[in-house]
This record gives sequence, structure tokens and C-alpha cells, in this order.
Amino acid sequence: MNLEIEAKEFLRKKNMSNITATEYQRKAKETAIFPADKALEYLSLGLVGEAGEVANKVKKLIRDKKVLLDTTVISSEIGDVLWYCAMLADYLDVNLGKIMDDNLDKLKSRKQRGTLGGTGDNR
Ligand SMILES: [Mg+2]
Repeated sequence: MNLEIEAKEFLRKKNMSNITATEYQRKAKETAIFPADKALEYLSLGLVGEAGEVANKVKKLIRDKKVLLDTTVISSEIGDVLWYCAMLADYLDVNLGKIMDDNLDKLKSRKQRGTLGGTGDNR
């Protein structure tokens, strides 16, 4: 078995992946089908719709008085959210990994300044 296949098998067994944000964004684009002249609207609405599907799965836990979340189902919906994030970033010509890095930097700064709580985009 070559090293790459062995590494992928190891990660699969550990329920992990070594895909990069850049690689994901590139591969996700291969499955993108939407009208180019409505891309921003399509992707924004799709993102909100998929986020709603995540929320709906959680809502049904309350309705059905369940405690355990089906990890496979919610993971699939999170993946759908991620696809729209990646495609929205691509539309804006921004690297998904850069967005991830910038977000972590922002949150780290807020934590250090004690502003993780509260409201406002620029705190
Ligand atoms: Mg979905």
C-alpha cells in the first residue's frame, strides 16, 4: 500500500480528513450548477436554506423530546452549509482558507480583549 492510500485509510478510521480548505473549494466548484447572472442571490439563499436545515434538525430534537443528535445527518447538513460558503467565497474571489484564518484571528482577538460576548460586527 502506498503512503498516500495508507494515510487516507488511517484518517478514515479516525473519522478525520486531511482535505484543505483550498482543495475543498476547488472540488466543490466542480459540482456547482447555477445561473451565473444570479450567483450572489442563489448562493446566499442556498446558504441560509442549508443553515435552516441544520436548525430544523435541532428543532426536531425538541419536538420529539430526543436528547441525541444524529451526527451523520447533521454532519451532512453542515457539509451543505460549507458548500455554499465555499461557493460564495469563490464567487467573491476569496480563498476559503483565508476566510477561515481571518475568522480565527478575529475570534482570538475578541477573546484576548474580552469581547467574545456582546454584539456588533466590529468589537
Ligand atoms: Mg441539506
